Amino acid sequence: MSVETSAKEATGTEDDVVLEVRDARVTFDMERGESRVLDDVNIEIRRGEVLGVVGESGSGKSMFADSLLNAVVDPGQFSGQVIYHPKDDEPIDIHSLSPSDLKEIRWEEISFMVQGAQSAFNPTMTIESHFWETLNEHDYDIQEGMERARQLLSDLYLDADLVLDSYPHELSGGMKQRALIALSLILEPSVLVMDEPTAALDLLMQRSIISLLHRLKEKYDLTLVFITHDLSLVSDIADRLGVMYAFEFIELGPTEEILHHPSHPYTRALLNSVPNLATVEEEMKPIPGSAPDPVDIPTGCSYHPRCPLADEKCLQEDPTMLPVDDEHEAACFYRDEARDELPLNYLTDES
Ligand code: SF4
Repeated sequence: MSVETSAKEATGTEDDVVLEVRDARVTFDMERGESRVLDDVNIEIRRGEVLGVVGESGSGKSMFADSLLNAVVDPGQFSGQVIYHPKDDEPIDIHSLSPSDLKEIRWEEISFMVQGAQSAFNPTMTIESHFWETLNEHDYDIQEGMERARQLLSDLYLDADLVLDSYPHELSGGMKQRALIALSLILEPSVLVMDEPTAALDLLMQRSIISLLHRLKEKYDLTLVFITHDLSLVSDIADRLGVMYAFEFIELGPTEEILHHPSHPYTRALLNSVPNLATVEEEMKPIPGSAPDPVDIPTGCSYHPRCPLADEKCLQEDPTMLPVDDEHEAACFYRDEARDELPLNYLTDES
């Protein structure tokens, strides 16, 4: 594939980076004022990793996913860059592509399972027709593509013949979701972005899909971006976790580090608010206060109205990402104090 890019010189490409997000911002003009739903996000997604993106609803997770694929809906205004680094080709600035080049990149390089995607199946078409149509639209060899479809379906523990012959309503939620994962991988993308891929499924099916995704990732050498409000679920599969608050990342690091040494007061509150194996329900603490209004994001540190450690500095200055440990960073002036003074309700030996 040959696509013009303006990003080539700006990237400083590293081999292990597959997607590079720079100063990504999304705004909507509203009667009440400008709504900022993605706030100068910078992050590098590494080739072959599973990046879990977590946060409360309304924290900007879905807008981050939309931005990765230039799928922000009108009248949203995107500024910044999302640079895709193919393995053996020049970098590509996703937001500078023509509609036809963008169509090529989507599915073939970076595939996207949007939230509530099960309803994306056309109820009047069999599952096979969905595969056929996708292959045909992208000029893929149909026979080869259908063989891959069968393999993917069977990798997902589905009876390929049965599923391909079915209409969407004839499949259970779990089967439909697995068929959709197979469909998103039909054109051999290297990155799969999933927005709440297990929502609306029962707990057992959620766990089963997580383990299947892990196998697929290994087998097909995929990079996964897994966006969810369910921190305990994504922790089982993610190599790194990025925590979003007020439309930006406020903590990022290896999953084990984030779970055992969360250093941003919001991450600690988030972890205390979710069920996990070691927490009895009475000990789960909802986070006091509410998520910020995108038209009126607090000045200084956006978490200060809800933060028990906030002081005058937090009201005045907006912290950037600051180091905690190797590969672990948090946007808080008081990372050590957070760890010392804000207990976790599921760990007793944090050090
Ligand atoms: S910078 Fe201040 S307000 Fe923000 S999270 Fe840290 S302690 Fe809390």
